Amino acid sequence: MTPAAYKPPAPRVVIVGGGLAGLAAAARLVGRGLHITLLESRPRLGGRASSFVDPVTGELVDNCQHISMGCCTNLADFCRRVGIGQGLKRAPEIVFLDRERRVARFRAGPWPAPFHLAGSFLRLPFLSIKDKLAIARGMVALARDSLDLPGETFAQWLVRHGQTEPAIELFWGTILVSALNERLDRMDVAHARKVILDGFVRNREGYTPEIPLLPLGELYGARLERWLAEHGVDVRLTTGLDQVEWDDENGLTGVRLRKGEHLPADFVILAVPFDRVRELLPESSGECVRQLGRDLAASPITGVHLWFDRPICPFEFVATPGRLIQWVFNHTAIQGRGLAGRPSSTGEYLQIVISASYDLLDLNRDQIRARVLDDLAQIWPETRHAQLVRSWVVTEHGATFAVRPGVDALRPAQRTSLDGLFLAGDWTSTGWPATMEGAVRSGYMAAEGVLQDLDRPTRLVRPDLPTSRLSRWLLAEG
Ligand SMILES: Cc1cc2nc3c(=O)[nH]c(=O)nc-3n(C[C@H](O)[C@H](O)[C@H](O)COP(=O)(O)OP(=O)(O)OC[C@H]3O[C@@H](n4cnc5c(N)ncnc54)[C@H](O)[C@@H]3O)c2cc1C
Repeated sequence: MTPAAYKPPAPRVVIVGGGLAGLAAAARLVGRGLHITLLESRPRLGGRASSFVDPVTGELVDNCQHISMGCCTNLADFCRRVGIGQGLKRAPEIVFLDRERRVARFRAGPWPAPFHLAGSFLRLPFLSIKDKLAIARGMVALARDSLDLPGETFAQWLVRHGQTEPAIELFWGTILVSALNERLDRMDVAHARKVILDGFVRNREGYTPEIPLLPLGELYGARLERWLAEHGVDVRLTTGLDQVEWDDENGLTGVRLRKGEHLPADFVILAVPFDRVRELLPESSGECVRQLGRDLAASPITGVHLWFDRPICPFEFVATPGRLIQWVFNHTAIQGRGLAGRPSSTGEYLQIVISASYDLLDLNRDQIRARVLDDLAQIWPETRHAQLVRSWVVTEHGATFAVRPGVDALRPAQRTSLDGLFLAGDWTSTGWPATMEGAVRSGYMAAEGVLQDLDRPTRLVRPDLPTSRLSRWLLAEG
């Protein structure tokens, strides 16, 4: 063989975990001359953003509604890249339905950011002038003052900045508890600031909600599986990792599967949840690596799926401030209009989301459903006359890592101290809370690390939406 004919073997990358972090890493590594294997212990891709099959109807039912915002630039890039962008719909507004059943719409007006939502904000019927003035002062303080007190919760910050009770419960609570999946009295201030600034202050598009038109299991499961296979990724479902194989002499050699097989690897990206990572690392990897994710806590989300025999909710989706129910998503309207162009004339499938659902953890499913139905009947009294055809109550106890004060100090970088071993996952250090955007960013960052080690440096992480000139002035950002 002449030297010119010699082709070095493709570097082998094993990605462990088929959630959005692992999928994003794989999507950014394809086409770069690598041999990529993706291992997923479950029989489907998508991780926490996935669906289960309803045994009665055979339909795909999402484990819980997933929604993103215009500021999620990397998630949008990922969806475009893998060809599922059409499966998501950007809504122009957020609808609020207050306790008196008054409707308010959050929609950008003609002014540039940060004043684009000022008109909608001033019209919110459930806040008084005093509440609104307090919120405006709070917004400026959040934008200008980033010197937070160590250990302070966002609830304490709000009190320290003169926020009224209605402002705290109905405004800050409504936006932040669902965005961060944490109660205000346990919430990190820096993360609250990030949601408010990225979502509502920097750019006109930041707040726009994006909702899936297809079940998550189709979007991030079946379609991703096809796309990855077409791009040469060896996707292995129902294949759990037992341990990363690493020793002092040879460094990283590969991984051992639960089935006992050894897979050689030059790089391993562990894209598993924070409470699963330690068991996958060998004793020899050192104390520092064995502590990964140890001090993070989890926060629960409850999703209640209700199929009624008649229409109940006149909106595609609606936020309900000051109630047990935080959001109602009308899947019949979203999927019927979005896909087939025909609204429902008969039954309706609603999904209720309750984030940071700590108060529901001691209740059984029947009790949770009863409380939700009661709340729903207060919003739409016709619920009492409707027949509930079917229902599911799903509480994910470890839905996300909890954004408690100081949480970012507990989140590791994607590059570990072991050569060739990278981490990904919403819980790793991205600056983002536990979201699909955070997961995708982490996957891009891990892929970036692999390419850097191969001397193919590339900037994979997409930039944030640009900050308007007026917002830069408000934020004192030059
Ligand atoms: C109920 C609920 C509602 C949510 N709502 C929203 C929302 O509206 N908007 C939003 O942005 N985010 C939302 N999230 C958060 C979002 O789902 C997550 O941040 C994101 O999906 C995390 O992706 P990930 O890849 O980091 O982790 P995961 O999705 O957890 O993926 C990790 C994968 O690793 C696999 N795995 C674990 N151990 C092994 C092993 N030993 N071998 C092989 N595979 C293994 C798991 O099976 C899993 O598939 C929600 C989460 C939940 C649970």
